[in-house]
Amino acid sequence: MSLLVQKYGGTSVGSIERIKQVAAKCAAAKRAGHDLVVVVSAMSGETNRLLALAHEISEVPDDREKDVLLASGEQVSVALLTLALKEAGQRARSFLGHQVRIATDNAYGKARILSIDSTKILLALKAGEVVVIAGFQGVDEDDNITTLGRGGSDTSAVALAAFLNAQACEIYTDVEGVYTTDPGICPDARKLARISYDEMIELASTGAKVLEIRSVEFAKKFSVPVHVRSTFAEVEGTWLVNEEESMSDVLVSGVACDRNEAKITLLRVPDRPGLAAQVFGPIADAHIVVDMIIQNASEDGTTDLTFTVPKADHKKALAIVERTARAVNAKGVKIDTDMAKISAVGVGMRTHAGVAAKMFEVLAREGINIEMISTSEIKISVVIEAKYTELAVRVLHEAFIGKQGTV
Ligand code: ADP
Ligand code: ASP
Ligand code: MG
Repeated sequence: MSLLVQKYGGTSVGSIERIKQVAAKCAAAKRAGHDLVVVVSAMSGETNRLLALAHEISEVPDDREKDVLLASGEQVSVALLTLALKEAGQRARSFLGHQVRIATDNAYGKARILSIDSTKILLALKAGEVVVIAGFQGVDEDDNITTLGRGGSDTSAVALAAFLNAQACEIYTDVEGVYTTDPGICPDARKLARISYDEMIELASTGAKVLEIRSVEFAKKFSVPVHVRSTFAEVEGTWLVNEEESMSDVLVSGVACDRNEAKITLLRVPDRPGLAAQVFGPIADAHIVVDMIIQNASEDGTTDLTFTVPKADHKKALAIVERTARAVNAKGVKIDTDMAKISAVGVGMRTHAGVAAKMFEVLAREGINIEMISTSEIKISVVIEAKYTELAVRVLHEAFIGKQGTV
């Protein structure tokens, strides 16, 4: 019998009515002959609500306790969906991360899945039950509850599909698939029938939150067929596939934006060997991921060092950097949380020149100043003032992808 993993996001389980609809969809897939493992997120808004509660108590909440708190959102939705399945006459059983044993490392708030024990899942499936598993959470080797980072239920689902060797992983969400840009921002965005794993990794890492980046990395590594599709419309969505030759004909296949980064500048630090290691070592030790880094040309033996970190980590990062600034005798530290990163992604960039130049030109025409630039083989990202986000996305989409044609 074929095994399917389905994942339903927050909006898809955002009310009791919607949970009942999801239960009906799951029961139909089961009747169609599939063994079914269903991963669910917390009801929409719940993770943010819990996070806000923690912040009412402390400015930088303890990492371990924050994970205990946030994981409770998914506990509610697995129970409600399982109840709805049973009510619809379908045998079902819920599991939390630690009950299955989704083993992770101990990096609270951004834990990585190390292994998944399939024993209980396979027993339940054999008994004819739909297995409903809490997304976003796991357990470390000392039995502490961990969470995987925002959007982490995608990763739970793809990892389960990989470990269980599922036929496919269906990601059900509130849009019909992966689009050329966020359809919520740009009305001209078009749904892609297929996207390569590599392009999706770049889009996810640059802010297209339709899939969490680690879920795509997992999918690529284990060749999991992933189908992103709508919970609310019975239509084909977008398949993640290995790169196909025709894909490199398209210069830019997607435009993404990210308002979740903060920019930190260390002013006038001594320009000497070992300085960067001294600055970034403690940040890495605190499991904070640094994205872009710029070091300006050196004048009088000192230089400015600018970099970006996730907004969620900016207070922690700032405290660390202020300590380093004192130790290395820097002039000071500046922080800016009002910025956005806009990226153009496409495998066609490997073989075509001129994308960066065109991007700069289009932004210049709108009077948008570029503060930072970074590139990879198939991506160009710029940092701009946050107030220009929507405008930049629309003009870049218009310039590179346009309104017409198929993708
Ligand atoms: P879920 O709660 O189902 O996990 P998310 O809110 O995490 O859903 O992700 C879906 C949202 O991602 C969409 O509503 C859309 O606004 C946003 N999004 C951003 N970029 C894209 C893109 N390129 N294609 C589709 N959706 C995108
Ligand atoms: N509930 C978590 C979040 O809001 C995980 C997820 O939805 O994937 O980030
Ligand atoms: Mg999501």
